[in-house]
Amino acid sequence: MSTSASFVIPTPPQAAIAVAGQSQSFPVRRIWCVGRNYLEHIREMGNDERAPPFFFAKHADMVVADGATIPYPPLTKDFHHEVELVVALKSGGRNIPADKALEHVYGYAVGIDLTRRDLQGAAKKKERPWEIGKSFDYSAPCGALQPAARIGHPANGKIWLSVNGAEKQKGDLTELIWSVPEIIAKLSEQVTLDAGDIILTGTPAGVGALVPGDKVECGIDGIGTLKVTIGNPD
Ligand code: MN
Repeated sequence: MSTSASFVIPTPPQAAIAVAGQSQSFPVRRIWCVGRNYLEHIREMGNDERAPPFFFAKHADMVVADGATIPYPPLTKDFHHEVELVVALKSGGRNIPADKALEHVYGYAVGIDLTRRDLQGAAKKKERPWEIGKSFDYSAPCGALQPAARIGHPANGKIWLSVNGAEKQKGDLTELIWSVPEIIAKLSEQVTLDAGDIILTGTPAGVGALVPGDKVECGIDGIGTLKVTIGNPD
């Protein structure tokens, strides 16, 4: 028997993120990330403070759930953590005005933009894309989403990350150079956004290297926490 909805190989599993306090999860369509959105991190990386932000992508199946052990990734010797506010969309469109952008937000979570910093740096030097540094298996850990219907749209709150109990990154959502509505508006000029898209909104200062055995914990006040362990290479 054959129908138009049948495929020649098994369909890939639907990537998803947990939603706090309920059994249904949030299906992930696309993962977008903002480059350079906190002044102190721009300064620590030696980049232009006045340059507008830009976007790169990870694949939906790179999402990792709270509590996971993440194998140390291949090819790198400088594997970095970047804690970020995650925005999850329930609808989308093109050229969304900033003053309408929050109507498209389903909820918020804390996530980590895991980065092979040495490979990202080498790609930058050769003017190549960032994929090899940013887009790899297990590169997008994400905690449970808090629906905006429950917590509203947080515009402030401490964002932090610790490794083995020692605080490494610390900032506040008030320090975002481009706000969540501005990010959604800007990204929707570039692509059509839709339900299931998530956006990692940039990291505060204090990024640094992880090694096998590290226990990483991070959080955003009013949103939640996320814990992952770095394992041996698989
Ligand atoms: Mn980042």
